[in-house]
Order: sequence, then C-alpha cells, then structure tokens
Amino acid sequence: MSKYANVIVDISHEKVDRPFGYRVPDALQDVLQPGMRVQIPFGTGNTLRTGYVTELTDESDYPPEKMKYIHSLTVTGGTQDGVQDPREKMIALAAWMKQQYGSTMIQALKTVLPARTKAAAKEKKEIRLLVDKEQAQVLLSEYERKHQKAKARLLTELIQSPVLPRELVTQKLAIPAATLKGLQENGIIAQDSKTVLRNPVKLGDYTAPPKLLSKKQQEIVTRILQNEDSGVTTPALIHGITGSGKTEVYLALIEGILKRGKQAIVLIPEIALTYQTLMRFYGRFGDRVSVINSTLSPGEKQDQCERARRGEIDVIIGPRSALFTPFPRLGMILIDEEHENSYKSETMPRYHARETALKLAELHGAQVVMGSATPSLESYARARQGEFLLFTLKERLTGGQLPKVYVEDLRRELKEGNRSIFSRRLQEKMEQRLKDGEQTMLFLNRRGYAGFVSCRACGYVCKCPHCDVSLSEHKNGTLVCHYCGYTIPAVKLCPSCGSRYILGFKAGTEAIEEQLKRLYPQAKVLRMDADTTRTKESYEKILSAFANKEADILVGTQMIVKGHDFPDVTLVGVLAADLSLSVNDYRAGERTFQLLTQAAGRAGRGTKPGEVVLQTYQPEHYSVQYAKKADYEGFFEEELLYRQLLSYPPASHLLAVLLSAPIEAQAQLAAAQAAEWAKTVIDKNSWADAVLIGPAPAAVGKINDIYRYGVYIKHKDYQKLVKIKDHIEKQRTLQKDAKGMCQFDFDPVNTW
Ligand code: ADP
Ligand code: ZN
Ligand code: ZN
Repeated sequence: MSKYANVIVDISHEKVDRPFGYRVPDALQDVLQPGMRVQIPFGTGNTLRTGYVTELTDESDYPPEKMKYIHSLTVTGGTQDGVQDPREKMIALAAWMKQQYGSTMIQALKTVLPARTKAAAKEKKEIRLLVDKEQAQVLLSEYERKHQKAKARLLTELIQSPVLPRELVTQKLAIPAATLKGLQENGIIAQDSKTVLRNPVKLGDYTAPPKLLSKKQQEIVTRILQNEDSGVTTPALIHGITGSGKTEVYLALIEGILKRGKQAIVLIPEIALTYQTLMRFYGRFGDRVSVINSTLSPGEKQDQCERARRGEIDVIIGPRSALFTPFPRLGMILIDEEHENSYKSETMPRYHARETALKLAELHGAQVVMGSATPSLESYARARQGEFLLFTLKERLTGGQLPKVYVEDLRRELKEGNRSIFSRRLQEKMEQRLKDGEQTMLFLNRRGYAGFVSCRACGYVCKCPHCDVSLSEHKNGTLVCHYCGYTIPAVKLCPSCGSRYILGFKAGTEAIEEQLKRLYPQAKVLRMDADTTRTKESYEKILSAFANKEADILVGTQMIVKGHDFPDVTLVGVLAADLSLSVNDYRAGERTFQLLTQAAGRAGRGTKPGEVVLQTYQPEHYSVQYAKKADYEGFFEEELLYRQLLSYPPASHLLAVLLSAPIEAQAQLAAAQAAEWAKTVIDKNSWADAVLIGPAPAAVGKINDIYRYGVYIKHKDYQKLVKIKDHIEKQRTLQKDAKGMCQFDFDPVNTW
C-alpha cells in the first residue's frame, strides 16, 4: 500500500522520459504494482494517456494536493497491435533491478528498454515518378529552358529509373528538400517510406538436422519439457564437460518450447558467439532466430526488439543484454557458460544476468536452463541444495578421451638450468607435434598481464606501491603502472630473493611468438591477443585459419571456450598457470580452475588423444591440482570451505559500496559516512552476524586522478544488504552536498 506512484508517460519517445508522480486512488491501493499500465490525466488539458508505473512510494517531493490521481488501470494483458505488451514485465524487471542492485529508476529502465534512437526501424524513403515518361520529357525541357537545374537533374534520373532511394536524390544529386516538396505538391513525384526491419544475419540454405540424442541428453530434455507441461519452473543446471553435447540439448529444448508456441532467449558470452555456433541455431530454426551482439548499431538492436515484440522471431541469441529482448510469450531462458564473468554488468545497475534471468523467468512463468563445464560456485551450491535441478554430462560425444595433464614446476626448471619460458616437457612435446604434423595451442592467461615482470626463481611480481597492480615493462627500460603512471627504472635483482632472473614477459604473446620462431624456424605460428583481434572478424579469421591447419601453433591470451573445434590440436600448453592467483581476489582460485579446465578442454577433441602441459610456480595449489585431475566436485568442496571460512559468496553475500571523488579526503569522508550509515542499520536491527569492513582504499586506489574507497558488508541474507543499500542511498540524497559518486556492487566479480 503506497500513497504515490511514479509513472512513465510515454516510453516510445526518443528517450525514456522521466517519471511523473501521481496519487494512488483508494480503489487501486491493493492492486497496483510496478510495471502495470495505467490511464493518467496528462498536461493542462488532462487528456488521458497510457503510462507505466515504475515505482510505488510513500514520499513525494511535490505537494500532494497539487498531484493528480491515477485515472484507472488498463486491463493487464491488454493488446497493442494485436500482441501482448511485454514492456510491462520489463518495467517490473527494471523496478526489481533498481531495488536489488542499487541504481536510479532511469538507469534501470535504460538497461531493460532499448533506447529509442533516431536510427530506429530504418526508414527507407523512396522518390517515385508519378507522371508518365512523355509528360516527364515535356517537364524536363521546360525546366531546362528555365534553368531550373535541380529539377532538371532529378527528372533526367527519374526518366531512366522511376523509383530512386531518397538518400541518393538528396545526397548524390543534391536536390534540396524544398524542391522535392514542391514537386510532390504538384503531383509530379511521391515520397514514400517503407519500414525495413533488418536481420543482421544473412541466411543461406544452410540446414543442420537434429542429432539423435544420447540417452543422457534425452533424459535432460524429457525432464525439462515435462516440467514445462506441468507448470514446474525449477531452474536447471547442466554440468557437462566441453563437447559433452550441451548445445545439442539446448537446441532440442528450444524446439520443444517453440512447439508449445513459446519463445526462448539464449545467452552466450560474446567471445563464444562464433559463426559456427550461430549456424547451428540458424540451421535448426531458420529465420525464426535472430542475434544481438555488440557490433550491431543501436538501430539494428532496436529492430531485433521490435521483431521480437511483434512475434516475428521466436529465438534470440546474444550476450548479457539479449536478456532484455521483449518476447511476449517467453518460455525459456538458456544461459550457456553460466560461470562467465561477462554476465555481470560493470555499470549501474551492476546486475548479474543469471540472477536477472531468474527474476524475468519468474515474471513470465518461464524456465531457466544453465550450462557449464565449470559451474560457478554460486550455481553449483544452489543445485546441491535442491534449488536448481542438477544434470551431469560426463562424456564427450565425439569419442575423444580427456587429455593427460602434466604439471611442470617452473621454479624447478630454472634451478635445473632451463631459462626458457617453455619447460623441457613442453618443448619436447611441441617438437613431437611439429614432426607429426599435429597442432599446438599455447595460452598466456590473463589479459592485463602482458608486460608484467616477475622473478623466475621465486615468482615475485613487481607491483605499483600505489595501485596494487603489476607494473609493465616498457621498451625504454622502465617499469610503469598503467593505472597511475608511477615509473621506476627496471630492476636488476629480485627484491624478494635476490635472484638475477627477474624478467619481463615483454609484450606477452608477442615475445612468445618470437621465441617460438627462434626455436622452431620452420613452424608456422599464429597469434591471438588484444592487438591482433581488434575486430570480431579478425578474431574469427585467426580461428578459422588455425582450424584449416594454416598454422602449427596458436599463441593466445583469449580462451576460446567453444564454437570452434580443432580436431588436430593434440597439445595445449598453459605458460604460467598461476598468474591469476597472485591477484588479491576471492574468486582467483575459481578463475584459475575454470581457465585450466577450459584450456584442457581444447586438447584431443578429435580421434587422437590430447595432452596438456600446465606450467606453474605453485604446482601444489589446489586449483591446479584439481584441474589436473579434472575433478570439479573436489575443487568445489575445497573452494566452498574456503568461502565459508571467510564468509564470501556463496556462503555469504557481499555488498561493496564504492565511493569515488577527485579529492582523496572527499572520497575518504564519503566512505566513512557510508560505513557509519551501514553501522547504524546493523546496530539498530542488532544484526550480530553482519560483517562490516572498511572504509578502506579500493584495490585500485586511484585511477585517472579519481580516488576510490570502498566499504564492504557481508551477510548471509541478501535482503538485509539491500536494506543497508537503501539507507545509504537515502542518506546521500538527503545530504545537500554529498561528495563524489556512490556505487553499489552486490557479490562483485571483479575487485574494484
Ligand atoms: P557442448 O555444448 O557441451 O560443448 P556440443 O553440443 O557442441 O557440446 O557437442 C559437441 C560435439 O558433439 C558437436 O560436434 C556435436 O555436433 C556433437 N554431438 C552432440 N550431441 C550429439 C549426439 N547426440 N550424437 C552425435 N553427436 C553429437
Ligand atoms: Zn600505480
Ligand atoms: Zn625472486
């Protein structure tokens, strides 16, 4: 029961407009919900217009006696151009996101509703000649006589081809709009517009018939579709190693959903959205499928939403933001590689696509199906508690065996005289592959680490004293911090153990490529990193070149999780398997395990057995050990214990309150206040089991002269953290001169 409602009046406008406050009439007190469509008096004439309730509140800055009442509720499920309006649910979702993650309502709305841009459904305008050719000839000679050059130019063209794109007419022929208008008024030409909704994928006659499912695959499909038919919406998690047939299961599920007249959203991390993966979906469902990715223009994205709303497509594939495709009859949301960090948004609202998908599915009565070879601790824990159905696929369907994994201790290599970045075992195995004409993939994990400097004897990493990030080696012989610019001359001896072998990984992959060329001049090497993959195409090009065996060795920083099969890759080397462990971050172990497991998953996909060499300074670390044994459960148990011990997710929830300001004292003060407000809520409610940490400088304490401070609060109950967030948010709005910026990050995936 709330006194006031904020209502967005017309969301089809160019921008999502600001909400207006209305009073809630008694009759609607118990029924009104965010997202509902209402009729409201608007403007001076009080004409009734349709609006959407974005928020219910008991407070208003506006004098209540001056506020208008909501007129009535539009029947929910009402139709608009014949289809149910899914925007109601989107607004309800935005309201939930605002509450759950902390942001303004407008930020949340902008996230879920596609911004209306000028480039909206691309309007293709045409100029048509209305008179016949003879008349046109007469007019043309008259224009020429009168020296009306523009008109003459246009007529000459139209006589040749009576329909011309307007763009060509206004730009190439330089005909002024006024001239066109005049000709139109005289009945000589017509200006028509056609709305063309674009499908970004060009379809050929490609088809991909369904595979006969294995017994295990069929069990999963049958169970989930049975749930669908009996209205059970328990989410499902498929834990299946790479190549175990998860995608084939998704395809069968979507087929079942489409047969039931419903629609599906498929989330796939952008990096795995390869041509091959897309074609499996297109081959199966043809032009009922569309795709959203970051290379689409805003206009094209909006087209996809429009086509979805009109029911012209039934399946959308894309990264995080594809979740907000407004399907009126959403039946299933599939999340592939559900553990991927890219599902978490790093801008406000900092939502997690998995949690948001669960909420959206609840609003639609739809099911969520997640899949991964290395499920996130969060999801696996929920599956074990029975909150999610858990399915396991343990075998590769293409017959390949799991690869044999060797762990090589880099400290020992050096002690025994090997100064190369390749261990002796890796060298020996690479040479064998070159002899046998088989392929090798080498990974240098973690993007940010190109150029970092470490000690080959003890593993020490040179870090910036101000930023807690590693320093990068520059060509001019200095070490530089990429966040704050701190610079020191290159070190000659390890500050930790005194060894002379403290060396840079230079330009990372580039240096590795160089070394390979020196070691094996006859080998063909391809490199894949941020430099060589600036565009999506170049990324695909490198992968296809490698798949076509145009190279013997692929060196990369990016992990290709799926979408490309390399049957001739029989060796995978991970060059420094523990770099991510040196980062102060509670998810580092999980990340390392995922990375190593996925790297291993690339080897031996064909008929030939694969081998993996993990080079590491910490061979005894449990992430490395469990990855070696391909033992996910073992890793899960140990990692969960660690999280329980330190009250980290999923054992507890974590709210990071992030404060930033250009003056350090301001950021510090803002953080101190936030901590104080958090403490007030905790004390007032006697939440003895809440843990408050900080204020403290953030992991990266300053970026671009903006100081960053954090306050961290842990509690088992997420909603208690939401209460703390609400209080801090409110106190900051009450404060007239609140300094700096305040952001909230629930269960962060990246250290701030
Ligand atoms: P994942 O998504 O788990 O990596 P995929 O669905 O891509 O697995 O399957 C891996 C490979 O096995 C693909 O080449 C796929 O075509 C094939 N495959 C999947 N299911 C079957 C099946 N039931 N019968 C034969 N081949 C299959
Ligand atoms: Zn720095
Ligand atoms: Zn050292």
